[in-house]
Amino acid sequence: MTDTLTRDRAADLIALETLYGATNYKPLDVVLTRGEGVYVWDVNGKRYLDCLAAYSAVNQGHCHPKIVAAMVEQAGRLTLTSRAFRNDQLPLFYEELCTLTKSHKALPMNSGAEAVETALKVARKWGYEVKGVAKDRAEIIVCKQNFHGRTLAVVGFSSDPSTYRGFGPFAPGFVPVPYGDAAALEAAINENTVAFLVEPIQGEAGVIVPPAGYMKTARELCTKHNVVLICDEVQTGLGRTGKLLAEEHEGIEADLTLVGKALSGGFYPVSAVLSNDEVMSAIKPGEHGSTFGGNPLACAVARAALKVLIEEDMIGNSERIGARLKANLASIKSDKVKEVRGRGLMLALELTEDLGGARPYCEALQHRGILCKDTHDHTIRISPPLVLTADQADWIAEQFEAVLRA
Ligand SMILES: *Cc1c(COP(=O)(O)O)cnc(C)c1O
Repeated sequence: MTDTLTRDRAADLIALETLYGATNYKPLDVVLTRGEGVYVWDVNGKRYLDCLAAYSAVNQGHCHPKIVAAMVEQAGRLTLTSRAFRNDQLPLFYEELCTLTKSHKALPMNSGAEAVETALKVARKWGYEVKGVAKDRAEIIVCKQNFHGRTLAVVGFSSDPSTYRGFGPFAPGFVPVPYGDAAALEAAINENTVAFLVEPIQGEAGVIVPPAGYMKTARELCTKHNVVLICDEVQTGLGRTGKLLAEEHEGIEADLTLVGKALSGGFYPVSAVLSNDEVMSAIKPGEHGSTFGGNPLACAVARAALKVLIEEDMIGNSERIGARLKANLASIKSDKVKEVRGRGLMLALELTEDLGGARPYCEALQHRGILCKDTHDHTIRISPPLVLTADQADWIAEQFEAVLRA
C-alpha cells in the first residue's frame, strides 16, 4: 500500500467512528493496530512509545507473550461458568493474589468502578452489622478531586462538573473533604462514618501526591474512630508507583484495597476488592455478585499478569527507571515547566498556565513518536509500561526537552 492509501485508511476509520460512535471521548487522531512492550503502531506503520499505557492498565507492556499464552490456552478450554458453579482457576487466583498482597480475602469483579461500588457496599454493610450504625444513616468520606470511575453512585461524589453535571439525582451518604488534609478528615468523622475512600496518589486529578505522612495519619484516624479505610489502588497499584501497592510507601495496610487495570495486564477487565476477614465477612451469599466476576478466563489472565509483574521485576524497574525519568524531566531548562511530580512511573509534567493548555504539546510529542495524554488543561501525564528501559526513558526526556524548548 502506498502512504496515501494507508493515510486514507486512518481517515476512513476515524470517519466511521465519528459516524456511528457515541462521542463520549475526544481521542487524538491516531489509529492503533498493534502493540509490543512499550511500543504501539498505527495503521500507517508509524511506531510510538506509549506514555499512557491505557491509564496504567498495561503495566506489563503490550501483548506480553506469557499473558497471551495463558489467555489463548484458557480461552480454548473454559471461559465462563458463572459463580453458580466453581471453576479450577478462581481458587488459584485467590491464593496467588492474597499471598502477594497479604490479604485475607478477595472479591473478584471486572471494571475498576465495579470494585469501587463493591467496596462501598461492603463498607456500608459492615457499618450496619458490625459498627452498629442506624439504618440508612451510613456516611462515607471521600476526597475532593477524586476519580473512582463512572457509575452513578461514584460520579455523584465527584467534584468535576463534566463528570456529574446532568446525571443527578445522586445517592446520599457521601461527605467530601480536601485531599491531603488529615485535620479535615478527622473533623468530618462522626458516629455514622463507616469508611474513608482515598487514592494514595490522585491519578486523574493530575498525579497529585499528598503530603508525606497523610496516608499514615489517615490509617491511624480510621483505626482510632472505627472507620474502614478504603484505598483505591486501581491506578496506583501493581507496581505503578515503584511498590506493589502505593500504601507501602507509608507502611500501611488499608481494610479494603481496590485493584484493577493492570491486574490483567490490559488484556481483559479484571478487578478485585482485597480485604481483611472482619470487613469482608459482612457480605453473605446472594448479597453481591457479577456474571463475569471471577470467571476462569479472567483468573488465568490475571494469574499470568501477576506472575510476570513479579518474575520480571517490573516493580523494581518502575522505581529505578521512574526516578531516572523524573530526574531527567526535572532537569529540563524551560520556563514552560511549572512542576514535575509523581512516584515510580506515575509521573506528570505541569506546564505554566499562560501556555493555554497541554494538548498542543501532546500533539507535538505525537509527531516525535510519543503518545501522551493531557489532563486538566495544563498537565501531561507520563505513565509508560513498567518494562521501560533506561535508554527509552532517556529518549522520552529528550523528546520532551525538544518540544518544550521549541
Ligand atoms: C481508572 C480508575 C477507576 C475506574 O476503573 P474502570 O475500569 O475504568 O471502571 C477507579 N479508580 C481509579 C483510581 C482509577 O484510576
